[in-house]
Amino acid sequence: MAIQTVGIVGAGQMGNGIAHVFALAGYDVLMNDVSEESLSKALVTIDRNIERQVTRGKVTAEAKAEAMARIKTSLTIADLGPCDLIIEAATEKESVKDAIFKALGPHLGADTILTSNTSSISITRLASRTDRPEKFMGFHFMNPVPVMQLVELIRGIATDQATWDSLHEVVARLGKTAASAEDFPAFIVNRILMPMINEAVYTLYEGVGSVKSIDESLKLGANHPMGPLELADFIGLDTCLAIMNVLHEGLADTKYRPCPLLTKYVEAGWLGRKTQRGFYDYRGDVPVPTR
Ligand code: NAD
Repeated sequence: MAIQTVGIVGAGQMGNGIAHVFALAGYDVLMNDVSEESLSKALVTIDRNIERQVTRGKVTAEAKAEAMARIKTSLTIADLGPCDLIIEAATEKESVKDAIFKALGPHLGADTILTSNTSSISITRLASRTDRPEKFMGFHFMNPVPVMQLVELIRGIATDQATWDSLHEVVARLGKTAASAEDFPAFIVNRILMPMINEAVYTLYEGVGSVKSIDESLKLGANHPMGPLELADFIGLDTCLAIMNVLHEGLADTKYRPCPLLTKYVEAGWLGRKTQRGFYDYRGDVPVPTR
């Protein structure tokens, strides 16, 4: 089935980036959120981010105008009924996602593909509670969506081949690259990235290095564009801890034990850039290490 109309549930940080790339690729986009403020903020953010691409000569002003005209918003989830593809990008809470799929179900056509942008929740479990586990997949975009080349496609145990193939075609039309992953905790990127970040926090916790020496070591010694602690602040320390907990519980291996220092920062509300403090303090002109 040709996919043309895409419904996005959740217009936050990820939802607006997903709407941005789909609209530029020529899809008709309908964004849904429970918050009117999120929807209007998303439209402003998309406009600003595409404008930046126009300034850099990557997108024409005409393509921007066409893309913006393709994005519609709605506070009513039933309005997503006629969509060919649904991408759920709402808050990372299983009960929220279950309720969204349940509310959507009766309004969808038989061929509509359901996907979730979850970073950690089992695709197979989310799928099992819908009326179409064979047409359900994980569609995991990276942050910031317009910039990052990779999309992880995650196959639930019941996902059928036609659904799998359709989503690979969608990723190609977006001009992005798909990595295929089976449905195990944290998929591929976070399964590898988060233990590295957690190990960097252990290295700090045990006094092997300071924030500065750890980040510099990985930047200059392993050619990483960002140090692991700087990256953790960018992702959000609460998100890093949540993913480590999913790995620890889901794989039952002590090697995924979250570092107590990571837990301590989250308990302090020092969640990284979004709260102005994490492994660095962002309240001044330049970030200052907090340890
Ligand atoms: P966010 O907090 O920025 O946005 C979530 C949005 O969902 C909010 O606008 C909220 O109003 C909306 N929402 C909540 N309940 C809803 C409902 N019932 N119906 C419709 N909308 C609802 O969160 P985010 O960072 O955009 O994350 C969204 C999803 O993307 C999560 O599953 C997260 O794990 C995943 N993800 C996040 C990142 C990241 O780096 N932030 C990366 C990859 C995947």
